[in-house]
Amino acid sequence: MSEKTVFKRIIDGEIPADLVHEDEYCLAFHDISPKAPTHILVIPKKEIPSVAEIEDQDADLLGHLWCVIRKVAEQAGLAGGYRVVVNCGDDGGQEVPHLHFHILGGRAMTWPPG
Ligand code: 5GP
Repeated sequence: MSEKTVFKRIIDGEIPADLVHEDEYCLAFHDISPKAPTHILVIPKKEIPSVAEIEDQDADLLGHLWCVIRKVAEQAGLAGGYRVVVNCGDDGGQEVPHLHFHILGGRAMTWPPG
């Protein structure tokens, strides 16, 4: 059996996280190495390694995650806007193989990303 990801260890309460939201299906917590004044991660409790492994049966879960993203961004006071980033795989720059959404805000973002 493969080793637990750091996010699975947070879900299981084995390592701490600065939580801003928890429900039956997901967690949201501050990124340990923020890339913007506000940098929050939203993760499903279900172990989905990346966007590439999302299944059709996950559609309701994904819809729920987007609603949580909206609520968390509102609670964080990101009225001026924000960016939601999902890195996928090596070329996408994904480091933790557990699906997660980055909410980045509190400054103007640039485009294109690197
Ligand atoms: P990725 O590069 O996989 O899209 O993003 C992984 C993110 O997880 C990075 O922004 C990194 O700072 C964050 N991260 C890695 N380990 C931890 C941890 O133990 N706690 C928290 N809160 N964030 C982490």
